[in-house]
Amino acid sequence: MYLYNSASHKKEAFVPNHPELVKMYTCGPTVYHFAHIGNLRSYIMEDVLEKYLRYVGYNVKRVMNITDVGHLSSDADTGEDKMLKGAKREHKSVMEIAQYYTDAFFADCRKLNIKRPDVVEPATNCIDEYIKIITKLLDTGYAYRSGGNVYFDTSRLPRYYIFNDHNEEDLAVGVREGVEEDTNKRNRNDFVLWFTKSKFEDQALKWDSPWGVGYPGWHIECSGISMKHLGEDLDIHCGGVDNMFPHHTNEIAQSESYLGHKWVNYWVHVAHLNTADGKMSKSKGEFLTVTLLEEKGYDPIAYRFFCLQSHYRKNLVFSWENLDNAQKAFDKLIARIAGLRPDDGAVDEAALAANREKFIKQMDNDINTPNGVTVLYDVLKAKTNDATKRAMLADVDSVLSLDLLRKADALREKNARAAATQSAAFTVIAEDGTPDEAIEAQLRARAEAKKAKNFAEADRIRDALKAQGIELTDIPNGAKWKRV
Ligand code: AMP
Ligand code: ZN
Repeated sequence: MYLYNSASHKKEAFVPNHPELVKMYTCGPTVYHFAHIGNLRSYIMEDVLEKYLRYVGYNVKRVMNITDVGHLSSDADTGEDKMLKGAKREHKSVMEIAQYYTDAFFADCRKLNIKRPDVVEPATNCIDEYIKIITKLLDTGYAYRSGGNVYFDTSRLPRYYIFNDHNEEDLAVGVREGVEEDTNKRNRNDFVLWFTKSKFEDQALKWDSPWGVGYPGWHIECSGISMKHLGEDLDIHCGGVDNMFPHHTNEIAQSESYLGHKWVNYWVHVAHLNTADGKMSKSKGEFLTVTLLEEKGYDPIAYRFFCLQSHYRKNLVFSWENLDNAQKAFDKLIARIAGLRPDDGAVDEAALAANREKFIKQMDNDINTPNGVTVLYDVLKAKTNDATKRAMLADVDSVLSLDLLRKADALREKNARAAATQSAAFTVIAEDGTPDEAIEAQLRARAEAKKAKNFAEADRIRDALKAQGIELTDIPNGAKWKRV
């Protein structure tokens, strides 16, 4: 399998550090508001990556943090605390807000068939881990104390920028709007590991530390949580592209300085979902959520389908029209699958294995989900029986998670119920008092043909019955017949 590694800027063969277990870490949500569907694009693609690794036989341990303290979500000791803002907006405590939006996040994930990672860890649970790392960074001279806070000294690193080759000025300025220069820093890119002096007067959560009562900086959370659950090395670290700088850059700086060796082998970044007029943002007031999609009548899984139709490294433009097209294509796909008969013969195991190889060939190429989706259409056209086609779809869907067979079966049952109700309402009367199943079936088929405006077929049935000596008369909602 080949994965694009943002750290090397190329696709690389994927080889895990430990053949028996792939260690995967995902930057989790900031829980001061609902996730927008852009955030969820990242989680959908990371979910596919995890499921694909399992599909090709790896054991995976996946860990995700929950950023449950607002001040952890920015480098700046300025601006506003997002959690506190959420708490004030909703007249709740910071921890109530965190719990509410964590639950809302996982509810959205369930609707999108995003599996819950093996370990989900709130940032506030791991203060001891952060203190341990910061203590060693101070002891080894990678960190310094200034103005009551502890900072990481980026000048100690021979190479600080891992993902970008732009010049330093470009990167440092304007990364996050409203970031004021912090005069306690020795170097512009230095970042806070521990705050004791904050401009936030009403900081809700504080902890004791060797440097005074305060709270951790933004980036230390992911280093501490991943090391607690996954140890000193990681195979895959993922997040959205906006996480590359400064978040992931700083995670690498502090983790590798602490460990004394390489920390992550593959950095996987998901490109953004944007609207036609720009970036999606939670702080802009009204924003796109899964609930809003549902309110407008869309199936959340159609949104998942929409995401899978694009490669994760390409920006994706969201519009209602684009989602409409995805929903229609998805409905059509489900209707075609519903046409497959489940009991149509035995599964052709060789064909199933060949289809699996075909899917793997596409997905091995940096998780090419658009081509993975094409495999579904190839299955429908394949020269094999319906049972094999269904087995192929189920196999591929264990990665794509589009609920294909479940939705198709539900549709088939719905159609069958509708047909049964219709045909039950159609009365057949044998005028001589002796019902005949075969004739009755023909009369029902004729009624169906008429309903479908297939008058040629309706006439053909009438003529065929006439040839058997059957005369029929239409009555309201039915037909009567007799032998002549
Ligand atoms: P946040 O809750 O803001 O920390 O973001 C959660 C995840 O969503 C992170 O991995 C971000 O990089 C990612 N993300 C943020 N905005 C977008 C977007 N418009 N499209 C895709 N992913 C995004
Ligand atoms: Zn992170």
